[in-house]
Amino acid sequence: MARHQDIEIPAQGSYMLARARVPAVFLASVPQGVVPDAEGSCPLDIRVEHGRVAAILPTGTPQAEGLPVVDVEGRQVWATLLDIHTHLDKGQVIPRAMPDGTLDGGMTGTFEDRKRWTHEDLRTRIGFGLRCAYAHGVSMIRTHLDSQEANAEMSWEVFAELRAEWAGRVELQAVGLVPLTFFRTDYGAKLADLVQRSGGVLGGTTDAIGHYDGAKNEELVALLDKFLTLASERGLDVDMHVDQSEDVNAFSLPLIAEAVLRNRFRGRVLAGHCVNLALVPEPSMARTIALCREAGIAFATMPTPMVYLQDRKPGRTPRWRGVTAVHELLDAGIPVAIGGDNCRDAWFPFGDHDVLDTLQQSVRIFQLDNPFSRAVAMVGPVPSDIVREPSAGRIVVGGPARFILFAARTLNELMCRPQSDRIVINQGKRVTDPLPDYSELDATM
Ligand SMILES: [Zn+2]
Repeated sequence: MARHQDIEIPAQGSYMLARARVPAVFLASVPQGVVPDAEGSCPLDIRVEHGRVAAILPTGTPQAEGLPVVDVEGRQVWATLLDIHTHLDKGQVIPRAMPDGTLDGGMTGTFEDRKRWTHEDLRTRIGFGLRCAYAHGVSMIRTHLDSQEANAEMSWEVFAELRAEWAGRVELQAVGLVPLTFFRTDYGAKLADLVQRSGGVLGGTTDAIGHYDGAKNEELVALLDKFLTLASERGLDVDMHVDQSEDVNAFSLPLIAEAVLRNRFRGRVLAGHCVNLALVPEPSMARTIALCREAGIAFATMPTPMVYLQDRKPGRTPRWRGVTAVHELLDAGIPVAIGGDNCRDAWFPFGDHDVLDTLQQSVRIFQLDNPFSRAVAMVGPVPSDIVREPSAGRIVVGGPARFILFAARTLNELMCRPQSDRIVINQGKRVTDPLPDYSELDATM
């Protein structure tokens, strides 16, 4: 077998990628005559012409002369991946902000750090995050943007610049994020207008409501009606931070599902986190999951910061993994995507926008190894459908040739190493941009 580092991708972007092994989850359909292996991967030859996928054929199909052949000898070839939930605006601020490992610390640390956000500061840090993601093989990111009145215009302006600059490399979507309580005031409509003008998604976090009783419950119901009405009037999808809490009395998920049904909301609804779903009594969990399925809610789970933040108490080892009920959601047929969330900020000190690393950790945290391919879908086709971005997460004829080529033949081999030598291909060409050096952030400190 040729050494991985010796594989050459022809610079003109036209070639036959021969003897690829592609997990079937990345394909619209398995080509006739192809038999997937025990892990669900398909032996394929992929014809790339001018940076696009021209044909997906069973390995060994006789070819017309002329195209250079890149023989990958049965290595895993994936579509580039999506990160459905990030906070690019907050990221890369360590050590000027340092997390203390608590949710409150995340909130106050971010509040303080936001005072330092300028156009240039945001551009530098978001750009740094995007370069990390691109080098790792991520070609679509949905980021939440803190959208308090004081900084919303600036953050969305920087985001729009970077979205245009990065188009064709990393596709970008943004969610206007505020505590749901902001929708008590006129600012809710102003934010919804800004999001609509910017081509974004409306967001909100239920956590500001806190532990609730009858009265807070009523308030949450009213806020959800207002939030969904504002989104509906503008044709917006919504993406919420939900129940980032171990408090089973702050369980807003069933109220969200009921609100979606009551308002006959037509947009996509994505619920992020929902970690206390794993702690409520089983009958309540089953009822809630059934309700979410009826309401058409999709889920995003971000296990890496949750494992870090949840059930953290001084001098005591955590007893709970801090993550949502992923197996029960999947078994109910509900779409669940895996996201990276915070990266080197006041909430979470780690991360490099490497979705493969997030996937590898998720497989272990959630016990999603049987089969592996179901977990792989959660960073590819599943988020691709949720965010309506067909150019990432799937390999389709006519689509852009965006692949990750691994020095691994099986999913097991792939899951056991960090894959630092992966080859990323965008529009048929090898991505040679290095990971940015941390010293480039020095000016922001
Ligand atoms: Zn988040």
